[in-house]
Amino acid sequence: MADALKPVSDDDLRQEVRAWLAANWHMKVADLNEFRTTPAYREWLNKVVDARWAAPRWPVEWFGRAMSDEQGYIIEQEFNRVGAPGSGMDRTQLYANTALAYGTPELKQAVIPGILRGEIAMCLLYSEPGAGSDLAAVRTRAEDNGAGWTVNGQKIWTSSAATADYGMLVARTDWDKPKHQGLSFFFLPMKQKGVEVRPLRQITNESHFNEVFFTNAKVPRENLLGKLGEGWKVLQTALAYERSAMGERARGPRRAGADAADSDLIALARRSGKLNDPAFRQELARTIAYRQLNELNTARAKAGLEQSSSSSIMSLGKLAMSRILHEEARLRTAMLGAESMLQGAEHPLADDANFLSLNAYFTSIGGGTDQIQRNIISERVLGMPKEQEVDRNIPFRSVRTEKAT
Ligand SMILES: Cc1cc2nc3c(=O)[nH]c(=O)nc-3n(C[C@H](O)[C@H](O)[C@H](O)COP(=O)(O)OP(=O)(O)OC[C@H]3O[C@@H](n4cnc5c(N)ncnc54)[C@H](O)[C@@H]3O)c2cc1C
Repeated sequence: MADALKPVSDDDLRQEVRAWLAANWHMKVADLNEFRTTPAYREWLNKVVDARWAAPRWPVEWFGRAMSDEQGYIIEQEFNRVGAPGSGMDRTQLYANTALAYGTPELKQAVIPGILRGEIAMCLLYSEPGAGSDLAAVRTRAEDNGAGWTVNGQKIWTSSAATADYGMLVARTDWDKPKHQGLSFFFLPMKQKGVEVRPLRQITNESHFNEVFFTNAKVPRENLLGKLGEGWKVLQTALAYERSAMGERARGPRRAGADAADSDLIALARRSGKLNDPAFRQELARTIAYRQLNELNTARAKAGLEQSSSSSIMSLGKLAMSRILHEEARLRTAMLGAESMLQGAEHPLADDANFLSLNAYFTSIGGGTDQIQRNIISERVLGMPKEQEVDRNIPFRSVRTEKAT
């Protein structure tokens, strides 16, 4: 392996990655989501991490090469060119990035290698029945027990809670401070007595998310991220990574083995005889152009995103992706016409169109709703006046709610 700290030219780097991929990546992966559930993926991730391609912008002591953002992109481009996953985690791996930026040395050692290598599964313990868009209103409490914290309360919409080893938890540690100041951020071990996970059924008929109940669950002292009472700051960093990843990610059709050509919008337009319809072509071109534009805008925003700071520009990409996914689903349905009323494996194109129409809500709600992204853009990007918050500066204990605490 090249000396991790020796500066290398862009051309040399590209050659080095290409040669490494040619020697190590021999797989043809049709469905990346499915590949990610296999032992072969774990083996591959280990190779990528050991070769320091997983997080090249990170420090050398944390599996990185201390590279510039641009050089990180060269590596990602080469991985994408051959369809190999694993690189770019220094931009998109929100759990590892949050731990790296705010974790204690003990926590970093305990979780970062496992997260990068796909050995530690994670979930986000943010939303509660009364605190989704307004996360500063969380009521799950964490109390100091001398050796760490004891957690009581409830979370909801927790994706992947059933399989997670740790959850990134936002909990209230001080009820006498205003709502944004009394929060703290923890890595909570999920596989313990006192953590109960109950599955929920989604609109797509899948069941990825859950309710999570805590009854005297424990968090060790070294699992606090950032300072006690400064959880809001850590949360903003973690949310920026999440929104950035959602701004460029789009889930494809549900069926394994879906015909890639038919899944493509232009191929579908050709098949449906709509490719030569001038009005339809306009809509198609506009949607495809939006996707291209969003990719460029996301790349521009990322180039300016300093590690461990949050960027409101990321909200633009997330909002755009949500609109693009709804629009693509609408076009698919229009192209299929009456066929879109059908469902099931015998009607794969209709099944895909319906699934994508329903799944588009994932991006419009998860990680902060479209309305909330619009608020962020208006206040932080356009500089418009802030929304009124009557409870911002009063002790959380005194905030009026429907439910008494
Ligand atoms: C597929 C999926 C996966 C998810 N995974 C997770 C997860 O892993 N972990 C987790 O913690 N959460 C998760 N969530 C929860 C998600 O982050 C919340 O649902 C989301 O933040 C919205 O909060 P809420 O559901 O409480 O809606 P509310 O906050 O009750 O909002 C209801 C409506 O009012 C609007 N609204 C609220 N406040 C304002 C305002 N100030 N201005 C304008 N409009 C407003 C909202 O936009 C929304 O349309 C997931 C959600 C989905 C859909």
